Amino acid sequence: TPDIIWTPAASTEEGARNARELFTRIFGGEAEGVWRAPGRVNIIGEHVDYNGGPCLPIALPHAAYVAVRPRPDRRVRLVSPQTVDAVDELNLDTIGPAGSEGEVKGWAAYLVGVAWALEQAGYGPLTGFDIALWSCVPLGAGLSSSAALECATAVALDDLAGLGLAGTVEAPNKEGRGILVTASRRAENDIAGANTGGLDQSASMHCTHGHALVLDSRDMSVRQTPFDIAASGCELLVIDTRAPHQLVDGQYGQRRADCEAAAAILGVNLLVDVEDYEAAMTALADNAPEEDRERLQARTRHVLSEIARTKAFIDILESEPLLSEEKLQVLGGLMNDSHDSLRDDYEVTVPELDVAVDVARARGAYGARMTGGGFGGSVIALVKTEQAEEIARAVTEAFAERGFAQPHVFVATPADGAGRVE
Ligand code: ADP
Ligand code: MG
Repeated sequence: TPDIIWTPAASTEEGARNARELFTRIFGGEAEGVWRAPGRVNIIGEHVDYNGGPCLPIALPHAAYVAVRPRPDRRVRLVSPQTVDAVDELNLDTIGPAGSEGEVKGWAAYLVGVAWALEQAGYGPLTGFDIALWSCVPLGAGLSSSAALECATAVALDDLAGLGLAGTVEAPNKEGRGILVTASRRAENDIAGANTGGLDQSASMHCTHGHALVLDSRDMSVRQTPFDIAASGCELLVIDTRAPHQLVDGQYGQRRADCEAAAAILGVNLLVDVEDYEAAMTALADNAPEEDRERLQARTRHVLSEIARTKAFIDILESEPLLSEEKLQVLGGLMNDSHDSLRDDYEVTVPELDVAVDVARARGAYGARMTGGGFGGSVIALVKTEQAEEIARAVTEAFAERGFAQPHVFVATPADGAGRVE
């Protein structure tokens, strides 16, 4: 049987050094500084951000690091370990939204898009810059590698332009960070052309170590809640299934469209505004076109039940910092119900996600669920510390038996949000 593949995060020192060395190798001289922004896992509250609901992410120790030096002109040169042979070159004067003449292709969009969005928001003109990226956030694993790129760039440009929006990691400027969240999100939506909600950027920008972030997607307000499961003898095991997920974009858009259609029929702006679940189901039965009826009911059922689960989860965390065995079982149960709802009503899971969840539960996890958008990506399991390895092994074996790609696993401890490293 195959060995477990553990993929722990690089240390901050290592990540910063890698970005710096890449910078010097490609551009010569020294970067002016190094900035870091993390990926995230969402503990619960999935596919509710664009419905105005709450979610509960933690920042991962896995992060993107950018080494940056401003330029005297408006050019931007970008390099990552994968692109050392073909450095990307762009100009801030000619970049524009996806689909326009100035469209930016590939990963560069996530970085220069932030400069574009800051200028659009009135924080310009900015100077050009040379930027070297090194990241250990797994790509396309539902752990938000894209927001890590955006937010690392956002705090770097903020610092270099002296905007003072981010503050420091120790003393964050919450309001200013909200502006950087918006700029990062616009980079993703407008320049990269990915129509995602604001969860990922908020998590990367606002999370603090030892805490989960309560994010209210209706007004993007945030607050911290202690999340110290280690004190209760537990860990959050992350299983990156490495399932291919080509369908993501279209499917994600269809789910959003379903929610919008349901909300329109129910006469609300966002599904979070639905007050009476039973009445909503009846209204959809009476008023949705026949071919859409069951689907819209199922989508709405997921969103409303997920919002209720997330609130219940947050209530427990906020009422009881040290989690009893009984509370852990309640939290695990909420995670299980979340996954089942995403599988049956929202239909965003794939066999790899379901198998990882089933195996983790069968081996004694308090609860397990997919995290992120779905259609591949990662599973999180709330487990007793001493069970983590056994569960990781059992999932690895189950995947091998089924001929799935070998999963990558790590333990997630809540890390800090975006900021300057050196
Ligand atoms: P997720 O954010 O869940 O990881 P996305 O599809 O939103 O998945 O973002 C993945 C994209 O982000 C990649 O296709 C690539 O363009 C960009 N990206 C992320 N990390 C890196 C990296 N280390 N180097 C280059 N591009 C990256
Ligand atoms: Mg992403």
